[in-house]
Amino acid sequence: MVAEPSSAAIRDIAVKDNICTTEWNTTCSSAMLKNFKSPYDATAVRLLRNSGARIVGKTNLDEFGMGSLNIHSIHGHVINPHDVAERRSTGGSSGGSAAAVASGMCFAALGTDTGGSIRLPASYCGIYGLKPSYGLVSRHGVVAYADSLDCVGVLAASAQNVHEVFGIISQHDYHDPSSASTGRRDRVRDLLQQRFANSFGTSLHGLRVGVPQEYFPAELSPAIAHSTRIVLSRMQRLGATIVPMSLPSTPYALSAYYVIASAEASSNLARYDGVRYGAYVPPDATTDVTRAAHIYALTRTQNFGAEVRKRILLGTYALTAEAFDNYFLQAQRVRKRIIDDFDGAFALPNVRRVVEEEDTLLATSPSVDILVHPSAIRTAPKLDEDSGRLDAYVQDVLTVPASLAGLPALSVPAGTGDDGWPVGVSLVGQWGSDELLLEVAEVLD
Ligand code: GLN
Repeated sequence: MVAEPSSAAIRDIAVKDNICTTEWNTTCSSAMLKNFKSPYDATAVRLLRNSGARIVGKTNLDEFGMGSLNIHSIHGHVINPHDVAERRSTGGSSGGSAAAVASGMCFAALGTDTGGSIRLPASYCGIYGLKPSYGLVSRHGVVAYADSLDCVGVLAASAQNVHEVFGIISQHDYHDPSSASTGRRDRVRDLLQQRFANSFGTSLHGLRVGVPQEYFPAELSPAIAHSTRIVLSRMQRLGATIVPMSLPSTPYALSAYYVIASAEASSNLARYDGVRYGAYVPPDATTDVTRAAHIYALTRTQNFGAEVRKRILLGTYALTAEAFDNYFLQAQRVRKRIIDDFDGAFALPNVRRVVEEEDTLLATSPSVDILVHPSAIRTAPKLDEDSGRLDAYVQDVLTVPASLAGLPALSVPAGTGDDGWPVGVSLVGQWGSDELLLEVAEVLD
C-alpha cells in the first residue's frame, strides 16, 4: 500500500487497486496495467471525496481480483498484520485493503467481492467486511472481473464504520446499467420498515436467524464451528429466534461459481491485447508484425500471471459450442436453484425478481430474516505452505452462494480459533437488507 502516515479518521480511506482513482495508477496488481492511470474516479471514490474523505492509498490485490490468498500479484504477497512474524495470508483478493484496516492505517477501505474477496480477508484479519447487495454500489470505474457477480464493498474495524461508508457509496448511478433504481431501493426499505417498525437498539427481539446445515461442511475446523455457536447463543440471549434449516443446492455453488466467473472473466479480459488496453509487448525482429495474433499472444502471455491465464482458458473453454451446455448453462441452472433456495428461506420477498413471479416466491416456512454461518472453513493459512495450491479454491465454499444470488453478506469478527488467529462469522440477508445486517452487527459489537 502507498500511504501517507495519518491517524484514522472518517477522512482516510484506502482503495483497492482495481478501483479507478485519478491520482494513482490503477494496476489491478497486473503487469498488463502497471502504467495505467484512469482519467476519472470510480463513482464510489467520487462519492467519498465529495463527502470529505481523503483517499490515502491504493491497496494490493490478487491480479484482477482472481484469488483467495493475495498471492497472485506483481506487488508480491500481502502478509497478515495480526502477527507478521508468522507470515500468514490476509486472504484475497482484497488482502491489501484488509491489511490496511487491520493495521490501523485508515478509517476504512474499499474492496471488491466477486465470490468472497471482502469477506475472506475480513475473516482472516479479524475485521468487518461487507459485500453489499448486487447493484447497490456502482461498479462504474471498477475494473471488471465478472460483471454479474462483482460488488464494491467496505472493510473497517467496526460495523459502525462500515455503515458510515456504505451510507455514502450506496447510491443509484446512471453510469452503471446494473445499478439498482431508487424505486427498488425504496421498495425494500418499505418492506423492512413494515417488518421491523423500530430499529433494534440493544436487543434482537423479533429477529429470526436461520442456520443452514450445509454451511458446516466436513472441511470446517471444529474451533470455527464452536465460535459460530457462541455468536448464535449470544443472539439468542439478545432475543433472536434461531431456526435450523437447509439450503440444499449449496454444495453445487463452488463449481458453478468458478464456471460463471471464469466465463465472464475470459470475455472481460479480451480487451487487454496491447492495442485497446494493456502494456504492448513489441514483437522481436523475427516475428511477422503484420500478424496481429502474434502481438496479442505476446502481450497477453507476458503480461498476465499464471492464475489469470488459467481462468481465461477455463472460461473460454466453458463458452465453446462443445462445452456450453454441459458447463455454462448447467452452472446457470445451479445459480437459479441457489437463488430459489434463498428466496424460500427469507421472509422478505426478493424485489429483484419480476413482480408477477413474487407471489410464488414468498417464503415457505420456516422463514427467517437473516442467515448466520462461518465466513471461512479455517483461520488464515501460512503463506508459504499454501501458496498456489488447488485447495485455495475450497476456501470460497462458504462465500460464493451469496455472490451467485447477489445477496448482502457481512463478515464480523468472532474471536479466535485454536491457533489464536481471527475467526469470522457471516450474516447474510435477502437482497437489499444490508442495513439490517449492519444494525444486527452493531447490536453484537
Ligand atoms: N477467490 C475467488 C476467485 O478467485 C473470489 C475472488 C473475488 O471475490 N474477487 O474468483
